[in-house]
Amino acid sequence: MMKVPFLDLGAMNRRHRQELQTAAERVINSGWYILGEEVKAFEAEFAHWVGSPYAVGTSDGLSALTLALRAWKELGLLKEGDEVGVPANTFFATILAITENRLKPRLIEPDEVSFNLSAAGLKSAWSPAMKAVIAVHLYGQLAEMAALKKFCQQKGLLLLEDAAQAHGAQLQGVKSGAWGDAAAFSFYPGKNLGALGDAGALTGHDLRFIEMVRSLRNYGSHEKYHHRVQGPNDRLDEMQAAFLRAKLPFLEADTQRRQEIAQRYRREIRHPQVRLPQVLAGEASHVWHLFVVRVPRREIWQQGLQALGVQTAVHYPIAPHQQQAYRHELGGLALPLTEQLHREVLSLPLSPVLTDEQVAYVIKTMNEHPLV
Ligand SMILES: *Cc1c(COP(=O)(O)O)cnc(C)c1O
Repeated sequence: MMKVPFLDLGAMNRRHRQELQTAAERVINSGWYILGEEVKAFEAEFAHWVGSPYAVGTSDGLSALTLALRAWKELGLLKEGDEVGVPANTFFATILAITENRLKPRLIEPDEVSFNLSAAGLKSAWSPAMKAVIAVHLYGQLAEMAALKKFCQQKGLLLLEDAAQAHGAQLQGVKSGAWGDAAAFSFYPGKNLGALGDAGALTGHDLRFIEMVRSLRNYGSHEKYHHRVQGPNDRLDEMQAAFLRAKLPFLEADTQRRQEIAQRYRREIRHPQVRLPQVLAGEASHVWHLFVVRVPRREIWQQGLQALGVQTAVHYPIAPHQQQAYRHELGGLALPLTEQLHREVLSLPLSPVLTDEQVAYVIKTMNEHPLV
């Protein structure tokens, strides 16, 4: 029986052993481990890759999201209690960034086909209390940024992209991270561009905002031992920056391989119970961080696939408003579509290190799954 692991992270990084070892050596020899040349160079290289004027390295994706909202508060563009529109089916961390800043999440049902926030959904949820929006490019597909941006401009809303799953997703030649007023990326090891530990970055085009984020991530310090604001320690470290620099040149090819596998899955998986993901705006707009199908009786599907050697995962089993952590703030909400998606979604193995044989085996196993 063939085995298809959901994600073989070791194999992902062993491909780059040489480049990663060279990067580590450079950092070891430099004698400088925090906010040095590697972070500076990675910020420049990543900003260039995204097509944004600035990038700021952070300790992880959550801190990038949190710092963006915090910087807008420090600049007087947001204040405590303001509402932030956000898709209800996002990963928990997106919501944490809002409540960490004592802002109020306004959970919006996603579009059922794209899993993303739509302009129509945003419009119907809008109220004058809403001051910012977080568009999450969930599973790797760019949200409909042109329409969202237009609405945000009309209403004077700040637009933050959660691009943690969508490095390089693009529409009309504009990549994720270059659409919003700011964007947050995660380089958690399993993300499309993954570090060998925690790492993140923020992009943006307003220099005042970027300078605020730079000082916020470093105890609110704009100059050594001078603190304008009370900031956390959310720095990206030199070692992770060096690893990311080593891997960035391979991201384009990895993305192509992801798109190739996704295309095969979409063409060849045929089962009356499986709803396949759809691309709404051209193949380049989806970078397939995850290949998420919808099935009824998911647990039976998952067990059946596992028994045949195909490991799957669920992103995510519990919606943020149904998490114990938010039982007081969000527990009373009813979001039927979001709740249904959380019951039905199933992520199939998809990564650049899958072989063609493994891809074919996943397709065959899906198609031969008995009706449940
Ligand atoms: C991974 C992820 C985050 C958080 O990133 P970390 O680096 O793990 O803190 C935020 N939002 C989304 C959509 C993510 O997938």
